[in-house]
Amino acid sequence: MAEGWNRRTKLIHGGSRRSGYGEIAEAIYLTQSFAYASAEDAEARFLEAGDDEYIYARYGNPTTRAFEERIAMLEGAEDGFATASGMAAVNGALASMLRAGDHVVSARALFGSCLYILEEVLPRYGVEVTFVDGTDLDQWRAAIRPETRVVFLESVSNPTLEVIDLAAVSQMAHAAGAMLVVDNVFATPVHSRALELGADVVIYSATKHIDGQGRCLGGVILGRRDFIRKTVEPYMKHTGGALSPFNAWVMLNGLQTLELRVRAQCESAQAIAEALADDPRVARAHYPGLPGDPGHALAMAQMGTGGTVLSIELGRDRDATFRFLNALKIWMISNNLGDARSIATHPATTTHQRLPEEQKARLGITPGLVRLSVGLEDTDDLITDMRGALDAM
Ligand SMILES: *Cc1c(COP(=O)(O)O)cnc(C)c1O
Repeated sequence: MAEGWNRRTKLIHGGSRRSGYGEIAEAIYLTQSFAYASAEDAEARFLEAGDDEYIYARYGNPTTRAFEERIAMLEGAEDGFATASGMAAVNGALASMLRAGDHVVSARALFGSCLYILEEVLPRYGVEVTFVDGTDLDQWRAAIRPETRVVFLESVSNPTLEVIDLAAVSQMAHAAGAMLVVDNVFATPVHSRALELGADVVIYSATKHIDGQGRCLGGVILGRRDFIRKTVEPYMKHTGGALSPFNAWVMLNGLQTLELRVRAQCESAQAIAEALADDPRVARAHYPGLPGDPGHALAMAQMGTGGTVLSIELGRDRDATFRFLNALKIWMISNNLGDARSIATHPATTTHQRLPEEQKARLGITPGLVRLSVGLEDTDDLITDMRGALDAM
């Protein structure tokens, strides 16, 4: 039935399951296990569960399945596995397929917890990881070798919003027989062309734009059916990283409004970036939607937008930057992104606090850098609030 549906229709109806009551809103199947009509039925289901048959919520549940189907449909992926958080998805995708002796090449500019998995966890289990500057194709070329099994990157990096060339990196990965795993949070499923550009696995933290209202943690791993069912599912179902049915229900409802929200947030982010780029008190605005940004052409080709997040370099010390943050009235000081509420983050002292100073410097995480996740408030109000805080700085 979903064949030929366009995105907005998929977002509303994809994966829906109705009980015998014919309820219009999604039901929440808040159940851990499932009862069988007979002992023979139980035996048969444990031998092989059918497409929409369930055993235990750690393995799968009708509500989480509806979420997996809806988001897989949206991404154009064959299948998906929903996880308890974005990090459970990153860990699950990597740990389920890597073994001691494998080699991984990863972009260096990563979300802090992704960096922890690649830098601390995988090497503990005998996986060698080489880090490169994701925007430098020569570094990827030099680092990828025949025993490279996985190439990992964030399509747009956090917090400096560098855009990585997915088509070029996927070609190099595939030439070496490696899989390209893309953490695609900043692109959002609305603007993603990752699979078409050669990614083998796409990961989202659903905590961000998919929930979009700052309530629940969740994540998803998307890819080919055999990878999801034969590699990811056994690992996830036995290690306990499944999404809760309640959170899946929140995410399913989040998907219904995802496109409208993300579009509005991108438009607002573009206007705010333009206003701040022209403000003499801002040393630099990093936003791929700005024509002068180094990632502009690539962002337009890969996503068709600069996204919902920008960052600004105030070129000032920590105290001045804190004065700016503390003077904001509408923007909230927090560390989430993709929320309906606009959020300002100081990466150097929060999300990236743990990094050694030299690594912060290399990644551009200076005392004056502020990351801005644009929400759904009125754009002019957000700009006025920014200007007031710049005055106070
Ligand atoms: C937030 C985020 C994650 C982790 O997601 P959680 O849902 O918080 O576990 C991973 N990667 C990126 C790029 C993120 O922004």
